[in-house]
Amino acid sequence: MATAYYLAKVHGVTRVAVLEKGWIGGGNVGRNTTIIRSNYGLPGNEPFYEWSMKLWEGLEQDLNYNAMVSQRGVLNLYHSDAQRDAFAQRGNAMRLHGVDAELLDQDGVRKLAPFLSFDQARFPIMGGLLQRRGGTARHDAVAWGYARGASERGVDIVQNCEVISFLRDAAGAVTGVETTLGRIRAGKVGMAVAGNSSRVAALAGLRLPIESHVLQAFVSEALKPVIPGVITFGAGHFYISQSDKGGLVFGGDIDGYNSYASRGNLPVVEDVCEGGMAIMPMIGRARLLRSWGGVVDMSMDGSPIIDHTPIAGLYLNAGWCYGGFKATPAAGWCFAHLLATDQPHETAAAYRLDRFRTGHLIDEKGQGAQPNLH
Ligand SMILES: Cc1cc2nc3c(=O)[nH]c(=O)nc-3n(C[C@H](O)[C@H](O)[C@H](O)COP(=O)(O)OP(=O)(O)OC[C@H]3O[C@@H](n4cnc5c(N)ncnc54)[C@H](O)[C@@H]3O)c2cc1C
Repeated sequence: MATAYYLAKVHGVTRVAVLEKGWIGGGNVGRNTTIIRSNYGLPGNEPFYEWSMKLWEGLEQDLNYNAMVSQRGVLNLYHSDAQRDAFAQRGNAMRLHGVDAELLDQDGVRKLAPFLSFDQARFPIMGGLLQRRGGTARHDAVAWGYARGASERGVDIVQNCEVISFLRDAAGAVTGVETTLGRIRAGKVGMAVAGNSSRVAALAGLRLPIESHVLQAFVSEALKPVIPGVITFGAGHFYISQSDKGGLVFGGDIDGYNSYASRGNLPVVEDVCEGGMAIMPMIGRARLLRSWGGVVDMSMDGSPIIDHTPIAGLYLNAGWCYGGFKATPAAGWCFAHLLATDQPHETAAAYRLDRFRTGHLIDEKGQGAQPNLH
């Protein structure tokens, strides 16, 4: 939706159809834990995510739609000297890119979140890296805001319309798609189907460096305001924020095996809850209201792809792993730029598909080639 919106708004391209096999907002955009931030360390990533943050900061005015963008801060806790050094390095890299970052000691974290379990023997909380401009946004409102903006500018949005194959000319170039509602011809086709990327690319004979994994999320009963912003555990995979309705929204790691099922399994539920109990035992008293899963497109270096494919006429936007919601504005902006001009946008130039062949990986998370094992 963001790509269609910026194609129309920035490039004046309005002969665009967005094809959605389900309903708008039913994919990962409506299933994530709504965190937005630009606290990346590598040059290939930081300018892109900061561009996204700047677009978030003007998004509601731009769309004239309340997306509940709430810059309450994102605090990454550290638990050892080595982790503090790594966070200091990341914070410095952010500041060199003109992005806000503050390294807090334990007293600084205590002022923000006095309820944390600071002095436990196993994972003592020594401090944290804070990005005050980070926070949350209401995810389904973002999808609907972009949809309304695109629709008003003449974009066709076709729901319950699944792409089932690609139309090709004699030279093999993509010239349109076959869908469950019929055939649609197009000069260019852009794929942005997240956890279904490998399956849809396979319809064109492409094998992507992407694995599909289930990622779960959880929400508790509504509580009075207790969590000031987003807090992440540095010694395990757990992160938490509080929604405007009062629910504690939290999550952790992927389930750890390839799947296209948007539901998860109990071992990860246990693992996530253990992470929560480790840093804030008080949440053991909150009742879990519901949990759900989404199918995330894990790339092999943890970073996304916004690029041409080797097939003429077919473009790819994928590999968002745990973190494509925060990228939504910039991902849409940069994919629109690529589709309209056939040139990569300057902030997304490193997100090439061939980097896995040439070795120019953007290994921000140090996950290597087996993200499913980490
Ligand atoms: C539990 C969970 C928590 C997350 N938390 C965060 C977070 O806090 N912050 C963050 O930045 N990111 C987070 N993410 C990641 C983020 O949600 C995704 O990276 C992002 O939403 C991907 O956006 P998208 O538009 O590429 O994909 P989607 O929103 O998934 O949209 C892709 C759409 O393609 C459609 N589709 C698939 N196949 C076809 C076909 N053949 N024909 C037509 N349509 C098709 C699907 O139905 C889907 O609606 C989280 C993800 C999950 C699952």
